[in-house]
Amino acid sequence: MAGKIIIDTERCKGCGLCVVVCPKSSIVISKKSNKNGYFPAQPVPADRRPVESGVEGAADTDCTGCCLCAIICPEAIIEVYRDQPNKIDIVAKPGKKGKPRLVEEKT
Ligand code: SF4
Ligand code: SF4
Repeated sequence: MAGKIIIDTERCKGCGLCVVVCPKSSIVISKKSNKNGYFPAQPVPADRRPVESGVEGAADTDCTGCCLCAIICPEAIIEVYRDQPNKIDIVAKPGKKGKPRLVEEKT
């Protein structure tokens, strides 16, 4: 199942937890700092994914929408979208501190 994440890079502290926890190596730390001086996490750009099995952007480096990154992020700034047959739903998004972070939006 294909997934997609959006990281609010200006609020990222660059702790790297999401990078470590991602089972698909789909997140990297940027070489450019944000306005607060942190080097934020970002989804791995398609043209920088490791070439595996001779196929650039091989499926085993792709986000599956598992939500582990969103769950572990202490800043709650990662939105996760998961592919459905004809649409992509939000399955996790940031919440206020102390509030649940995981939601499922049925459309
Ligand atoms: S949703 Fe899962 S596979 Fe996708 S970037 Fe986050 S941890 Fe990695
Ligand atoms: S876990 Fe959150 S704060 Fe830490 S690097 Fe990832 S997005 Fe940034």
